[in-house]
Amino acid sequence: MNNFDWIVVGAGITGSALSYELSKKGLKVLLLEKDPNYDNATRYSYGGIAYWSGTDDYSIQLCQESREIHSNLSEELGASTEFRELDLMLTIPVDNNPQSIAKNYEKFFIKPRLLNPEETTEVEPLLNKNAISGCLRLPHGHIHPEKTNKAYQQAFLRLGGTLNYEKVTQLLSQNKTIQGVKTNKEEYYGENVVICAGGLSHLLLKNTGININIYFTHSQLILTPTVDIKLQTLVMPAVLNRLDIEEKSGDSGIQPLWDNPSDDVISDVMEPGAIQFLDGSFCLGQTSQIITNPTVKLNETTAEKTIREGIEPILPKLQNLPGKLHSCLVAFCPDSNFLVGKINDFKGLHLFSGFTSTLMFAPPLARRFADWATNNNEKMPSL
Ligand SMILES: Cc1cc2nc3c(=O)[nH]c(=O)nc-3n(C[C@H](O)[C@H](O)[C@H](O)COP(=O)(O)OP(=O)(O)OC[C@H]3O[C@@H](n4cnc5c(N)ncnc54)[C@H](O)[C@@H]3O)c2cc1C
Repeated sequence: MNNFDWIVVGAGITGSALSYELSKKGLKVLLLEKDPNYDNATRYSYGGIAYWSGTDDYSIQLCQESREIHSNLSEELGASTEFRELDLMLTIPVDNNPQSIAKNYEKFFIKPRLLNPEETTEVEPLLNKNAISGCLRLPHGHIHPEKTNKAYQQAFLRLGGTLNYEKVTQLLSQNKTIQGVKTNKEEYYGENVVICAGGLSHLLLKNTGININIYFTHSQLILTPTVDIKLQTLVMPAVLNRLDIEEKSGDSGIQPLWDNPSDDVISDVMEPGAIQFLDGSFCLGQTSQIITNPTVKLNETTAEKTIREGIEPILPKLQNLPGKLHSCLVAFCPDSNFLVGKINDFKGLHLFSGFTSTLMFAPPLARRFADWATNNNEKMPSL
């Protein structure tokens, strides 16, 4: 009864997409999620699909597969993901040289168009042309992340998968071979376990004696109700300081802090961004902080003020929209686009997490992962 081919830990977009793809192969899959409210990174994301961001043959191929999968996903899963194509507008601060910022984007296989402030407001009238020196315009995909996650889960359940709301407290193993997992309620057995626990993946693996370079930021954002104002595009800054702090968090000086979590703020960035969903509601973001304690209590009043003040110069009409602050952990890996594969020296244990552009990479890699899991000729990557 409690025996499965695969046990998937965490039901954000990574765990839900992977459970669905494994079930499609006829495997008996258990998906375990600790939080029935889904206060996770998937629920609070903008929903952008950066299919322009490939830089080498492999990532370009994944970008193309992702666009193709997302275009057909509503039909395949039998529920709308609200997939659409829209413009991504990457704002360049007024004191930055637009040409030199644009140079940073030359490595991507789809290059942005550099717009001056006047051209920018023709595309996105809500942007304040006095606060920017220009904008990079890119074609982008967009989904409703929560609906997409639910659609994957519903399709997974229809294929006979099991989704239980339980917290995995321990990975069960013997002689470095995985046996299953223990939750707050039960023990489950299976030859294969895959960790899709987002920001908590590091901790779960560490408790089993496995140290992998996967960490998390604490992110905060504001969700609004449906409002009577129209944003045409997805707006984000062209200079993403978050990527810098993520890279530095893997430095040897900081690494011990992940093993001895504290409430100290190691770094802190605010990146003004906004997206409007098809129902007229907004997600306004976003602060990212590196604090190694995953359960630290963050100050919500300060965060809301920081986000609203950060939005004000760029998108003044959105500053005072009604809305509620939310927090979540976002997993990242400082030196790779994703951590996908079997964990070396630990038979049956796998990781599927730590993505940049998770909504873009997770669907095609979940499909490939299920192929690797069922096709003996194709070798699964090792971590
Ligand atoms: C404001 C904001 C905007 C963003 N915009 C974008 C965007 O436009 N495009 C993009 O690609 N990405 C974006 N992201 C990042 C993206 O949301 C995340 O990278 C992605 O959702 C992570 O998915 P995940 O499945 O790895 O993690 P999560 O969605 O966090 O899911 C992990 C799940 O594991 C569960 N879990 C953890 N531990 C256990 C345990 N022990 N037992 C059982 N369950 C457990 C958690 O409860 C959680 O539900 C954004 C993030 C934020 C905050």
